[in-house]
Amino acid sequence: MALIALAAAGVVDGEALDAAEVCLARGLGATVHRVGPLDEPMYAFDCARGQYSSTLMLRDAIARRPTDAAKFLVVTERDIFIPMLSFVFGQAQLGGAVAILSLARLRLEFYGLGPNRGLFLSRVRKETLHEVGHTYGLTHCEDTGCTMALSTGVRQLDVKGGGFCSGCAILLREALGYVPPEEASNLPGGTT
Ligand SMILES: [Zn+2]
Ligand SMILES: [Zn+2]
Repeated sequence: MALIALAAAGVVDGEALDAAEVCLARGLGATVHRVGPLDEPMYAFDCARGQYSSTLMLRDAIARRPTDAAKFLVVTERDIFIPMLSFVFGQAQLGGAVAILSLARLRLEFYGLGPNRGLFLSRVRKETLHEVGHTYGLTHCEDTGCTMALSTGVRQLDVKGGGFCSGCAILLREALGYVPPEEASNLPGGTT
């Protein structure tokens, strides 16, 4: 089974961390170790944009990855960006070990709406699997219902399902070297 380390960068919503942990355990069959927290990513703040560089956060996370962890997910409350985009929900090393997830734009309050914990946590689960999915070599999927579909906004994110399409599930199985338990329970022909 995969060993995934999970860390908050600074103060991060505890329920969101719990949701990320549970979906990694269920969706990927991973053993999740909580580590950290890391420092707030002040080193990554870009004064001109008023946002935080996800590339710098990724670089920092690579240096801090626990040596026993196959993958390392760092969660931040900060609004993150890469230079060519106005924002990103997260960033990951494709086929690598490290991923960053930002909660900032997953909250309805960011858009001037009232809070909705259920919807927020559902977004957290989808983006957790999406970013960690990238570290298993999965690229963006054309199936808009698949969690590996590209989301450039919350509308696309909310259309997605919380799981992998059959094509991505096959690639994921190959990368993991086993069938994740949630998927195994959905396979036809099982007796238990
Ligand atoms: Zn992506
Ligand atoms: Zn897919």
